[in-house]
Amino acid sequence: MADFKVTELDPELDFSNLAYWDVVIIGAGPAGLTAGLTTAHRALTTLIIEAKDKPGGQPQFLYADKRIVDIPGFPDGITGDELSERVYRQAVDAFVQFRFNEELVSIDDTEDIEKGDTLKRVVTTNGEYLCRKVIIAVGLLHFPRKLPVLDELNTKKVYHKVPKIGDYEGEHVAVIGGGDSGLDAAVMVQQRNGHVHFIVREDEATGKADTFQRICDAGADVHLSTEVASAELEGGDLKLSLTDGATIDCELAIVQIGFLSAKDTFQRLNVRLNEDGSMAIDPYFETSRKGIFAVGDVHGDIKLVTVAWAEGIQAAIYAFKEITSPYWLNEKRLRDLKISLIGEKLASDASQLSKSQRGKSTRNG
Ligand SMILES: Cc1cc2nc3c(=O)[nH]c(=O)nc-3n(C[C@H](O)[C@H](O)[C@H](O)COP(=O)(O)OP(=O)(O)OC[C@H]3O[C@@H](n4cnc5c(N)ncnc54)[C@H](O)[C@@H]3O)c2cc1C
Repeated sequence: MADFKVTELDPELDFSNLAYWDVVIIGAGPAGLTAGLTTAHRALTTLIIEAKDKPGGQPQFLYADKRIVDIPGFPDGITGDELSERVYRQAVDAFVQFRFNEELVSIDDTEDIEKGDTLKRVVTTNGEYLCRKVIIAVGLLHFPRKLPVLDELNTKKVYHKVPKIGDYEGEHVAVIGGGDSGLDAAVMVQQRNGHVHFIVREDEATGKADTFQRICDAGADVHLSTEVASAELEGGDLKLSLTDGATIDCELAIVQIGFLSAKDTFQRLNVRLNEDGSMAIDPYFETSRKGIFAVGDVHGDIKLVTVAWAEGIQAAIYAFKEITSPYWLNEKRLRDLKISLIGEKLASDASQLSKSQRGKSTRNG
């Protein structure tokens, strides 16, 4: 049966007062945006949670200026930036709600039942959301975590790896992050004659103790239990105000506060993974946890925008069908199971037959 009837959400709906969401989607890349658009076009209340400050996923963050030439309908190509903006606008027009700068932490099963569905609790770095279905669309990439207070400056003075400058003679460099990568960055700056201001949120550096001692001995200014409270550009350099009251003037800042890793997220979700570490799904894009779907780069071999779109749309429609006719998916599963049982029986009969024929020919021979 064709499935193209758009039923819009009521524009008067007070999204801030919902008891629960129909669908929560994690990730505002191509897969998440199209999934959201599709559920909202079926009048399901839809929330998309995105770790970054903007929608779009890889086309926005990795190749915003590249002209993508393999999207049907755009014979002259379209940039990653424009493509992301268009799909986002379409989702906003369909009343999909968004939370940016918010990262998925876990998905818990609750004991609350609504219209036959056991509600799930999606826990993020900023809050908790009850919902009926979840669609995971977090991609597969590792992105360096950014510090919003520095990122907002939009300057080339803030790095997420040690910049290849031959000599830092006389330069002041703020290194933020007390793990091994932060310590390694500090050592590299000192080896190139730079002066390190080492800023660590915790009360001690969590990386190797002997490396920490080395950077202290080499004269770093260390600020423990401290964060960057605010930052500004002054005469082309950075001026950082710290929560311990200090102010640092520096030529550059290196942020080493870890990565946003999709694979870490998968492990926290307690879903079955394939051998290559991607998410295992059934033919309806549902993971090993009922009511949690997974689409786009998180699984499968073909990693393309159009494939992510198509999967987002399919999972959204399966989620919609489960919500509106909960037995539908079970019936389909039962049918699939019957087909696979028949297949197994045929295979077993064929193997018995060939064994008995081999037995006969050996006796006859
Ligand atoms: C350099 C490059 C060029 C490419 N060129 C093309 C091309 O020309 N044509 C083409 O079709 N495809 C191209 N691709 C592939 C295409 O970009 C991907 O297949 C597509 O982006 C996958 O979409 P997705 O939504 O599954 O994941 P993504 O685009 O990775 O989006 C995932 C989103 O989830 C967010 N997220 C991650 N973890 C969390 C979390 N814990 N909580 C909340 N949000 C989270 C991320 O910030 C991101 O916004 C290219 C890929 C690369 C790397």
